[in-house]
Amino acid sequence: MPVIRPADNAEQVEHVMGLLRLLGEAQEVSSLSTALRAVAEVASLLTDATEAGVFVAEEESGLMRMVASHGLGLVAAGDNSVFVLGIVPWLASEDSRFVTADEGEVELRTAPAAFRKGSFWTPLVQGGQTVGWLVVAGLSDGPPDSTRLKFLRLTAIHATTLIRGMRAQTALNLRVEALTTLAEVGQTLASTLDLDRVLRLIVDGVARLSDATACSIMLLDESRETLRIRMAIGVPEEVVRTAVRKIGEGISGRVAQTGEPVFLRNIADATGGLRGCNPDRYRSPSLVSLPLRSRGQVIGVLNVNDKREGDFSAEDVNLIMLFANQAAFAIDNARLHDQLWQASVTDGLTQTFVHAHFQRRLKELVSAAAVGQDSLAVIMMDIDFFKKVNDQFGHPIGDVVLQGVAALLRRAVRSNDVVARYGGEEFVLILSKVPYRVVLAVAERLRKAVEAATFGARENPVRITASFGVAMMPADATEGTELIRLADENLYASKRGGRNRVTSSDAVRHLAELELAPATASGRVERAGSPGTEVDC
Ligand code: GH3
Ligand code: MG
Ligand code: MG
Repeated sequence: MPVIRPADNAEQVEHVMGLLRLLGEAQEVSSLSTALRAVAEVASLLTDATEAGVFVAEEESGLMRMVASHGLGLVAAGDNSVFVLGIVPWLASEDSRFVTADEGEVELRTAPAAFRKGSFWTPLVQGGQTVGWLVVAGLSDGPPDSTRLKFLRLTAIHATTLIRGMRAQTALNLRVEALTTLAEVGQTLASTLDLDRVLRLIVDGVARLSDATACSIMLLDESRETLRIRMAIGVPEEVVRTAVRKIGEGISGRVAQTGEPVFLRNIADATGGLRGCNPDRYRSPSLVSLPLRSRGQVIGVLNVNDKREGDFSAEDVNLIMLFANQAAFAIDNARLHDQLWQASVTDGLTQTFVHAHFQRRLKELVSAAAVGQDSLAVIMMDIDFFKKVNDQFGHPIGDVVLQGVAALLRRAVRSNDVVARYGGEEFVLILSKVPYRVVLAVAERLRKAVEAATFGARENPVRITASFGVAMMPADATEGTELIRLADENLYASKRGGRNRVTSSDAVRHLAELELAPATASGRVERAGSPGTEVDC
């Protein structure tokens, strides 16, 4: 390639313009580093330089990193990036600078050796700010003359335009990716009621888009006193399960209490109200903690920390905020659905399950019991002479009695047992994996409890009794409808037998006695029910 001497003639100027056009084309077809390598090449040709390079300021730290070079013998594009300039006061200026062959610059020790002496530095200025430098080195004849200087400036302007384009492109790509992920979250939200799936998409999306390694969603419990992790990425499993934050404590607790977001560039700067935060817990010093709001109330917190490089930017925070809104919406949506579902399966008066839900659960539990070869019991209960209660005390008191009986039943069994209102003043229970003798004991205990209870006003208490019918799988039947029929039959046997009693089949009573026998014989005290049962007789 011939050395270009701008003073020679118009032909050579034309040649330079051709090179600049080439640069323009490079911008369209290649990556930024390729285009900037062409910039470095053109700069060295223009100035008879042996080496040239382009440094660009990192957006977060402002440090100048070499992104392209020419003549330095660097093979891979990544080789350039190891050259990061230290804090050199003139690097922030907008004036070009000649570093003579004699003086050198101590501060430039992290630059390639060729740039430390006899080099000329042209600033890349954008919006009044120096965003990078174009360096040409090995200038044996001193600084470039005024014509070359003009061309260098032109080349620098070109490089600045390329860098601005790259930054805009990066920001645009990030926004497109964010919108795509948000759209995916929205779609999942609309098509599934799987809150876990939606929240996982959100924490993954936040971490990926903000380049963080840790993101968690914490929710306030019903008492609004403690926060627990509901979904997280980059947080140890043990911490996810056990972490509890009191409201007002630490950063998350503080955000939940005040509803104000926290955006710390450096966690070590956290003072005063942000007590309880421990900088050692975090891998990088910058963190974002935003409140999740639903209907004007804080319901939880979205935490993002451990950014891979540098600090979170205002752009990151804006993006995280979009996801926080989606998370709050998803949680709200799921809770609303939960409430609707609860309402649809719960009897309004007694807060026990409705008949239809009982039938569904019976089907499921019978199948599970068949697979596991487990026992399953259906206990039917009907209040004795309930019509008289209504007649004597009035329907509203009759309702109070029904509520009281329901509460008594729910308290008496395990939380995973099913208690449902079968009809008017009839209730039905399903107990899974409970031994025969324990089921009979539970039914008897229920009978006694109903008999002993008083309902309504203290000064005018209502006392009732109830009749029970038990049917069990596998002794009586192995099918749901048959179990109900037999339990009902036994219930009416209790009625016929004089009411206020429990009736079960001979088979069930016999098996219950067999269960009891070995324990009595050996003198062992056997645990009632399956492991973990709350049934206690
Ligand atoms: P027994 O079962 O012992 O044969 O007598 P009983 O008086 O309980 O008989 P029956 O089943 O015929 O009467 C049930 C009564 O329960 C009739 C109905 O008025 C009353 N009942 C049903 N649902 C409700 C309710 O939601 N509230 C009130 N207060 N009463 C109800
Ligand atoms: Mg009755
Ligand atoms: Mg009845």
